[in-house]
Amino acid sequence: MGTGGDLTLVNKLAEKIGAEVAVTRPLADMGAAPRDVQIGSTGYSLKSRLAIVVGASGATHFVSGIRNVKTVISINTDKNAPIFQFSDYCVVGDLFKNYTEAGGDSLKIIVCVKVVPKIEEVRFNPETKTVDRSGASNELNEADKNALEAALQIEQKIGGEVVVLSMGPRFFEPFLKLCVAMGADDAVLISDPVFAGADTYATSYALAQAIKKIGFDLILCGESTADSGTGQVPPQIAEWLGIPNISYASSIDVLGGKIIVKRTIRNGYEIVESEPPALVSVELGSNTPRSPDFKRKRWADREFQLKVWTASDLGVELDKVGRSGSKTDVIELKELSPAERRREIITGSEEETAARLAEIIRAELTT
Ligand SMILES: Cc1cc2nc3c(=O)[nH]c(=O)nc-3n(C[C@H](O)[C@H](O)[C@H](O)COP(=O)(O)OP(=O)(O)OC[C@H]3O[C@@H](n4cnc5c(N)ncnc54)[C@H](O)[C@@H]3O)c2cc1C
Repeated sequence: MGTGGDLTLVNKLAEKIGAEVAVTRPLADMGAAPRDVQIGSTGYSLKSRLAIVVGASGATHFVSGIRNVKTVISINTDKNAPIFQFSDYCVVGDLFKNYTEAGGDSLKIIVCVKVVPKIEEVRFNPETKTVDRSGASNELNEADKNALEAALQIEQKIGGEVVVLSMGPRFFEPFLKLCVAMGADDAVLISDPVFAGADTYATSYALAQAIKKIGFDLILCGESTADSGTGQVPPQIAEWLGIPNISYASSIDVLGGKIIVKRTIRNGYEIVESEPPALVSVELGSNTPRSPDFKRKRWADREFQLKVWTASDLGVELDKVGRSGSKTDVIELKELSPAERRREIITGSEEETAARLAEIIRAELTT
């Protein structure tokens, strides 16, 4: 009952350490948990190796249910609580405060992701000078998946929350749900016709407004997108928010409340550290993004409620978003055709092939 019937925190803690949640009778009585997970004389008897008993007084009817547990850890605000007589390790303190302190380093991480057309399927419209996505299938930008994986690894290590954020049309929604199936805790799509046609300046402005509304300690982005590849949006977001920007991260760690980034530079790397809040853009291919979890995917597709925010939800200045808020114009668009090649197939025995190759190389080097 130390939870007052709210098991959100306990469930989260259990999920982190791979434990199962069981309850005292009053919680089962009030319907906070099913009757079949009630411990005690009228419930079941635990036989686990470890039980962490949080906010249970230690009434006789309850403790009979933990008699066969090898190790009992208890957390209770009352130092005289009977439960301590039946515990191996006793923590006098507030469940909520202790848990928060244990996760003191934890960060709220926003990962900016974009849905991009498969680049090999994209065509260009020379008249409108825009990318014609209509014939192309879409996917999550690869470097953004690396950013999400980095965020999930940090969350696994120190706790916190991972929220994915994207700006784009409503067809992005299943891709954001895929991020949730991979492990993100929440997803926000900012979607409004007034955002259409934005360049990096207008995009970063709109994303920054959404980031302020969500709240954050750390923002992760992919280093650049496959469809436009400027790499400008991450530093621009940092600029709008007035926070440090660290680019081309090949790994990110959080130690003693500091964000420690290994970043790639020419012929090597450097280690950079920053206090949160900060923005880090993650190098393409710097990790192996996990696959979506099958059970989580079903939940994300069927039950998870994605947040969709419009321009008015964000209270943006309309002259800073979309086409009208953009600072760049495409003057010319040129599709480069691949260089013409001879395509000469060299056949024959190994000796003949080697001789022909040697002849070609010699000719290339001498002419
Ligand atoms: C016939 C019969 C059968 C019963 N069978 C069972 C049974 O099978 N199982 C069972 O559990 N009960 C059973 N009961 C009920 C049992 O007697 C107790 O009433 C019950 O176990 C008390 O539950 P509790 O410790 O969760 O609640 P409470 O008595 O309300 O105690 C809450 C405890 O949480 C602590 N606390 C509060 N807030 C915090 C916080 N933020 N952080 C840390 N600690 C906090 C308080 O100091 C307190 O010690 C039965 C009763 C009867 C009459």
